[in-house]
Amino acid sequence: MSAVIIDGKVFAAKVRGQVAAHVARLVEEHGITPGLAVVLVGSDPASEVYVKSKGKMTVEVGMTSIEHKLPADTAEVDLLALIAKLNADPKIHGILVQLPLPAHLNSELVINSIDPAKDVDGFHISNVGLLGTGQKSMVPCTPLGCLMMLRDHHGSLSGLNAVVVGRSNIVGKPMAQLLLGDSCTVTIAHSRTKDLAAVCRGADILVAAVGRPEMITGDYVKPGATVIDVGINRIERGGKTVLVGDAEFESCAAVAGAITPVPGGVGPMTIACLLANTVTACCRANGLAEPEGLTA
Ligand code: NAP
Repeated sequence: MSAVIIDGKVFAAKVRGQVAAHVARLVEEHGITPGLAVVLVGSDPASEVYVKSKGKMTVEVGMTSIEHKLPADTAEVDLLALIAKLNADPKIHGILVQLPLPAHLNSELVINSIDPAKDVDGFHISNVGLLGTGQKSMVPCTPLGCLMMLRDHHGSLSGLNAVVVGRSNIVGKPMAQLLLGDSCTVTIAHSRTKDLAAVCRGADILVAAVGRPEMITGDYVKPGATVIDVGINRIERGGKTVLVGDAEFESCAAVAGAITPVPGGVGPMTIACLLANTVTACCRANGLAEPEGLTA
């Protein structure tokens, strides 16, 4: 293996440290404590784990964490009423509705009912539009974490060829927008892309966000390229459940110049960026200078 391992755990701890320092300044100099409200509808076990972990880390960086756990059969009108209450609450600077929502709820309607200034997931249509037109927005956490790691590793991304495999609204598309914003030449690949391996071999930066375990192998990677593996897949191997990415680590690491591992790569950055977005939203809401390096 020749690739440098981009350690997302270490990087995420550094980002959380920067957030904590900024929160401490907000409390000390302005008497403001950033607040994050997380809304969970139903009892999906994976979502419950995420929400618990988000709450713990929110408190660790000195912010207020509020959790609203609603039953799976919550009526849409009641969920919208809760969001309206949180939108109006000056102590709440970030609102996150944990996805997926139960099938009877219209996710788009719910997400678009969040005040865009408090939309720390960056999924509100206004934030999508602002990002697409290069304006100040709330940036989706997972792609923001990828961008931070890439900037840290490369310095400037200007002129690099980037291929993003996956075109979802939560990862692929915003990732491509962010790379374009940093002046990469961007290709978005998907399930209909012809000769995907050849397209990927043109990439200086290859982002794998396909949701297919270990689909991207070493023969998709240009020698020396940086591979960002967004995938989180649980598979059975050797009688155990293991976590693997969308890239096959060993074969990709043998060719790449740098690679993020799974676990310990993009995953830890997602929550760190949620906290970063909350402190950014709090500063904007109060007309204060934003912390540097914590958004796109
Ligand atoms: P998604 O909504 O299922 O989108 C997957 C994308 O991959 C689609 O655009 C699809 O193309 C494309 N695709 C599927 N099979 C393909 C193939 N054989 N060749 C080329 N493209 C293919 O997934 P997502 O929500 O973006 O998530 C992607 C991965 O990231 C998943 O593993 C997920 O678990 C992970 N994830 C991780 C984090 C984190 O915090 N680390 C956060 C979010 C997601 P079409 O559009 O043509 O169908």
